[in-house]
Amino acid sequence: MYLKSLEINGFKSFSEKIEIEFIKGITSIVGPNGSGKSNILDAILWVLGEQSYKSIRAKESRDVIFHSANKSKNFAEVVLEIDNTDRQLKIDENIIKVSRKLFKDGKNEYRINGNKVRLKDISELFLDTGVGKSAYSVIGQGKVERIISSSTKEIRDIIEEAAGVKKIKLRKEEAEKK
Ligand code: ATP
Ligand code: MG
Repeated sequence: MYLKSLEINGFKSFSEKIEIEFIKGITSIVGPNGSGKSNILDAILWVLGEQSYKSIRAKESRDVIFHSANKSKNFAEVVLEIDNTDRQLKIDENIIKVSRKLFKDGKNEYRINGNKVRLKDISELFLDTGVGKSAYSVIGQGKVERIISSSTKEIRDIIEEAAGVKKIKLRKEEAEKK
């Protein structure tokens, strides 16, 4: 499984649709300060269902929609294309497209391969794969310091996700609630 491409439209500093193609291996993104490099990482976390606006450096949900003095967008949209030829994700397709769209009125729309899904479906798809929004596959500026200074419970959560046992634990907790 690897990240094939990323489409960003109206998210943060990207006023128009842009597409980034990734190759298997390492991609470096370079640019001057404030040019939007970290916004690309924020877009990846956001489409994976990030709900904490602090984690993507925004004050409130609508902050992620592009706005400037003379132009504003009505929505923000990010589409992540994943190569799943190795079937690491449990959907029987070679390409999996995950998308999230936020409208100005606060409505979020999540899709997997074009079909509307719940946020929970996106989280479950990536749980224990090492890719989810909390899987530390995205290490933003300052995150290493935050991991080091985490509480023991937070560190345990990180290890459980990495070990691939979180899905079972969450299911157990849900079953116990019923
Ligand atoms: P550095 O090298 O300093 O880490 P960077 O390339 O990572 O910089 P980012 O933090 O990704 O830069 O981009 C910051 C820019 O994004 C700022 O100029 C900010 O104004 C802009 N920005 C963030 N949110 C929005 C938004 N909703 N609409 C328009 N611009 C935005
Ligand atoms: Mg940055």
